[in-house]
Amino acid sequence: MPVNTSVPLLSLACCLFFAGCQTMPMTGRSQLILSSESEEIALGAQAYSEYKAKYPVSKNAERNAALARVGQAIKAAAQKNDYQWEFTVLESPEANAFCLPGGKVAVYSGLFPYTANEAELAVVVGHEVAHALARHGGERASWAMLQSVGLSALKTRSESEVLAIAYGAATDVGVLLPFSRRDEHEADLMGLTLMARAGYDPAAALSFWKKFGGTAPSAIEKFLSTHPGGDARIADLQKAMPAAQAEYQRAATKRGLGATLR
Ligand SMILES: [Zn+2]
Repeated sequence: MPVNTSVPLLSLACCLFFAGCQTMPMTGRSQLILSSESEEIALGAQAYSEYKAKYPVSKNAERNAALARVGQAIKAAAQKNDYQWEFTVLESPEANAFCLPGGKVAVYSGLFPYTANEAELAVVVGHEVAHALARHGGERASWAMLQSVGLSALKTRSESEVLAIAYGAATDVGVLLPFSRRDEHEADLMGLTLMARAGYDPAAALSFWKKFGGTAPSAIEKFLSTHPGGDARIADLQKAMPAAQAEYQRAATKRGLGATLR
């Protein structure tokens, strides 16, 4: 009879790496993360330079200025002072965006045709920043490592080796791994709070994500593969909207939908 050992194995892992079990500040959820946040931040900075070497930094003044404004506002809302924040538009036809550990944000130029205004850009940036604040990358890498390497192999290795294996297992610093439904849900709710606190009308989350439901044009398929859309997401956002609108009303600066983007 096949015996499923994964659950006891992983709870044992949680005991062994007790320092790796922690509670996420914004949600109160317990997480298993084997890497330290400072290690993730260092890896994030390294991966960010690699992305900036691979894709040209945009020279589009309007898009750069819009991302700078959104970035400043989201950064203030995130209140994460140990991050060295950077916000960059990279030239790529892909409709995608990411935030690496440490606050290294990139929005591909291919996403801008889908952001009608600054507030919709804030939806994307808020969502990606939320993934980083929640350390979803480190968490996914830790689970991937436990599944692929096993405990006995881990015990004989140094922390930095363990971390290297973790990120190797997750590939590409985890940026392009599909997020789990739970991660997406968490990032949606945290992102909604961040954009509202930043002074952008949270209603833009509905207009933005509705573009990614139903029949998606091929250009956004990549974004959908890492950030699944759908009716469930819209329904969850609608449920969270009254709290987000209250947060927006408390924001010191109201930006509404911000500038219109072309
Ligand atoms: Zn996401």
